[in-house]
Amino acid sequence: MAATRSIELKTEVPGPRSREVLARLKASVAAPLSITFPVVAAEARGATLTDVDGNTFIDFAGGVGCLNVGHSHPHVVRAAQEQLDRFSHTDFTVVPYEIYAELAERLLALAPFSGPAKAAFFNAGTEAVENAVKFARAYTGRPAVIGFEGAFHGRTYLSLALTSKANPYKAGLGPFAPEVYRVPYPNVFRGVSTADALDALRRAFSTLVAAQDVAAIVFEPVQGEGGFIPATPEFANGLRQICDEHGIVFVCDEVQSGFGRTGTFFAVEQLGVEPDLITVAKSIAMGLPLSGVLGKSEIMDAPVLGGVGGTYVGNPVAQAAAVAVLDVIEEEGLLERSNAIGETMRARMLAWQERWPAIGDVRGLGAMLAIELVAADGTPDSETASKVVEEALARGVLLLKAGVSGNCIRVLVPLVVSDGELEEALTAWENALAAAL
Ligand code: PLP
Repeated sequence: MAATRSIELKTEVPGPRSREVLARLKASVAAPLSITFPVVAAEARGATLTDVDGNTFIDFAGGVGCLNVGHSHPHVVRAAQEQLDRFSHTDFTVVPYEIYAELAERLLALAPFSGPAKAAFFNAGTEAVENAVKFARAYTGRPAVIGFEGAFHGRTYLSLALTSKANPYKAGLGPFAPEVYRVPYPNVFRGVSTADALDALRRAFSTLVAAQDVAAIVFEPVQGEGGFIPATPEFANGLRQICDEHGIVFVCDEVQSGFGRTGTFFAVEQLGVEPDLITVAKSIAMGLPLSGVLGKSEIMDAPVLGGVGGTYVGNPVAQAAAVAVLDVIEEEGLLERSNAIGETMRARMLAWQERWPAIGDVRGLGAMLAIELVAADGTPDSETASKVVEEALARGVLLLKAGVSGNCIRVLVPLVVSDGELEEALTAWENALAAAL
């Protein structure tokens, strides 16, 4: 194993400079924008982030899954800079630009659509989801949308209606969009089988909403914020079949699972189904705000002209970065790397599970892995998960929680992490577990 060392803690965490900036942020920034790690970023490269006190951390949070190619990858930085030099904005629907076509073509070539397909770009993941619903409603002429328990699709009002975590995302913020219905997502660890979930969906057509009123089923191939719960191929195929039976648009939300996170470019490739629409964002442009909907042409062309749009429907700087991200994924073999990282981490996590009964479950796909912390009676243990995250920070690793109960710890490490950094971070995480448990 390479004996590299990346973590370097020069002060207590948070250090004095971070504390100073955090005090200013507290005074001037709206409180609900609450901060996970009490350290202030100064610069970041690859899988490491250095704070304003000179402390360097290994970043397993990756800007919540936006940094599959790592922080400030030089190829992506150069592409964005060159585009910024040429022009930064025209409004694509006023004066179009070529990079839009290049990105659309490159992504559609990677997407699992067997027939003609098209793309449309936006900014945040939540916009991609909302626009996917627009495409589906325009195509079907139907109002309703079905989502899943434990889902996360964003925080603007329609996406928020689909998002299934009351606190903190929905508390006090209603009413939410109508015609959104929710059914169980399979979760073997919590006793919901694929058959249970498919039965519940079929039952929902009697008890919740008529199938002929449903425009779309919005599905995460691996639930992200919900705690890294992978769908089974049987579930995805069951959904595909139900969509086909009733003329429903099958939307696959790959905002968190896409761009190689799970070992294939899209996670849905491992489920053996062809969705109708795919939403993308996060790692698409190394953290520059860009999202998109990819889908079958007949659905993508359904809204009236001008029915989909916005001032920033695909920023050229972010798109130039996105094309460069695709180059990096290909040239650096990041899909294979995702699987290798996943194997290393899974072996380590399974060993932790043997050692500590508080680790109830180890799960995920490729490098999209999480552990679930439970109390002695099997109930979710969010407090211990928080303690582990805190102990890991003190040891120089940024870890993020997930799960409806906040009791999972997930990995969204840049896929460019070296073997040495991975080993160093896993050892720090293991020490954090030993301290917390
Ligand atoms: N969909 C999924 C699966 C996500 O994980 C997220 C964000 O975490 C979103 C949509 C919303 O994306 P954004 O926060 O960019 O609006």
